[in-house]
Amino acid sequence: MAKQPMLKFVTVQRDMPEKRGPEVRREDFHEIYAEFADAKAAEQAARCSQCGVPYCQSHCPLHNNIPDWLRMTATGRLKEAYELSQETNTFPEICGRICPQDRLCEGNCVIEQSGHGTVTIGAVEKYITDTAFEEGWVEDIVPASERPESVGIIGAGPGGLAAADRLRRAGVQVTVYDRYDRSGGLMTYGIPGFKLEKDIVMRRNAQLEKGGVEFVLNCNVGEDITFQEIREKHDAVLLATGVYKTRDLGGPGSGSAGIVRAIDYLTASNRASFGDDVPEHADGSLWAEGKRVVVIGGGDTAMDCVRTAIRQGATSVKCLYRRDRANMPGSQREVANAEEEGVEFVWMAAPKGFKGDPVSGVVVQRMRLGQPDATGRRSPEPIEGEEYTEDADLVIKALGFEPEDLPTLWGEEELPVTRWGTVKADFRTGATDMDGVYAVGDIVRGASLVVWAIKDGRDAADAIIERFNAAAADIAAE
Ligand code: FAD
Ligand code: SF4
Ligand code: SF4
Repeated sequence: MAKQPMLKFVTVQRDMPEKRGPEVRREDFHEIYAEFADAKAAEQAARCSQCGVPYCQSHCPLHNNIPDWLRMTATGRLKEAYELSQETNTFPEICGRICPQDRLCEGNCVIEQSGHGTVTIGAVEKYITDTAFEEGWVEDIVPASERPESVGIIGAGPGGLAAADRLRRAGVQVTVYDRYDRSGGLMTYGIPGFKLEKDIVMRRNAQLEKGGVEFVLNCNVGEDITFQEIREKHDAVLLATGVYKTRDLGGPGSGSAGIVRAIDYLTASNRASFGDDVPEHADGSLWAEGKRVVVIGGGDTAMDCVRTAIRQGATSVKCLYRRDRANMPGSQREVANAEEEGVEFVWMAAPKGFKGDPVSGVVVQRMRLGQPDATGRRSPEPIEGEEYTEDADLVIKALGFEPEDLPTLWGEEELPVTRWGTVKADFRTGATDMDGVYAVGDIVRGASLVVWAIKDGRDAADAIIERFNAAAADIAAE
């Protein structure tokens, strides 16, 4: 019988690529995990038991063919692994880095369930495509033939770019409009380099540009061009504008200087990583060095803020969250990384007000957990009379994001939105009730994940191509 190359989970322990020590990684914005060495990637991929019904795959939003590319990696067929991996995922090397795998593929791996430690799916996925770039296997986007139809995409985040990639490969003329000066959306200006280095995103932007996608940057739709003008220019329009309205805090002193929004803080830091001039760093307003920093929130954005503040040289960094560790929305892996780097978490604590202007402290209300709410999470409730002041020179609000009011901003009352302000679109195709207008990613789902935006972008691109094909067939039949 041929030697069994897989099922090594009993003899081989789960092992992640080497993680840089906290003392070293606090000093820079580089990614904290190294790349797998070739032999290590093959060894780790070989731990997969090749399930007949792979739960990893069913819990991956893109339904990546995980067992097959793991087997190919384990048996040295890396180029085939790359080709298979990129069939279902537009940016596998990005998802491999930043998907919350513990909640998706890896969290549902049967080996994890049986107590052996999950297969390191994300790290292998990243390794496969990083290697493909190094080896020159990643080909330019060259459509077999050009099509006459054009699509205008508003928003150059993962949703818009995944759609642009798929449409362009099919020969469609694609123009992407974005109000920022670089494309990538939150992958460029939200997520810090220690999770996703910027050259990884820029490499994809360059590939799309070289493949014929036209980018119109520094173009704020609703100000520099109207939505209507974009509709008139193109045969279909895709909205992928994300969600950027910050949930705010009330309470006495909440308008004081030194209380800032997470998105502004992270954007400034990412701009500095590109070498841009950042006036808010020069004047200290979005800079943490020498300050006692308090971040309010328990999601991934809060984790990114606390770890950025550590790297900027804050004197102390505390994260206030109104529930406990078990009930926080952020990834446990990121909490552990933050703790290793020196962040202190203050659980069951909510801001009640602020002292000083500029801010000098947060009035903290102690909380306890009550009954589960509609989402199943236990609701925090204040403990009467238990409050104290947490000293702070910089307070960062990381309470989540909501959609901007697009119908009003764009003067498009017809644009169909839900009562939460997200754009109403078919979850399978992205089609809205406006003829030829599609929508994907966070602006449809509310704040979500890169992998879901990629899925939506790919699905909407397929639906748009189907629409064009049907229209072309109608013309041919006339
Ligand atoms: P976005 O990425 O937000 O892109 C939208 C684009 O539209 C932007 O470039 C914006 O400039 C542009 N735009 C908006 N309005 C206009 C307009 N009027 N005119 C022109 N352009 C416009 N997800 C993960 O999977 N893993 C993570 O680790 C992770 N970390 C995160 C950390 C932070 C700090 C944040 C904020 C989010 C994080 N997310 C993470 C979530 C993830 O980034 C988003 O779910 C994803 O980027 C959504 O993609 P999108 O294409 O819908 O929108
Ligand atoms: Fe896992 Fe995300 Fe990759 Fe899917 S895309 S296999 S969920 S890391
Ligand atoms: Fe392999 Fe785990 Fe997926 Fe099963 S669930 S196919 S063991 S990665």
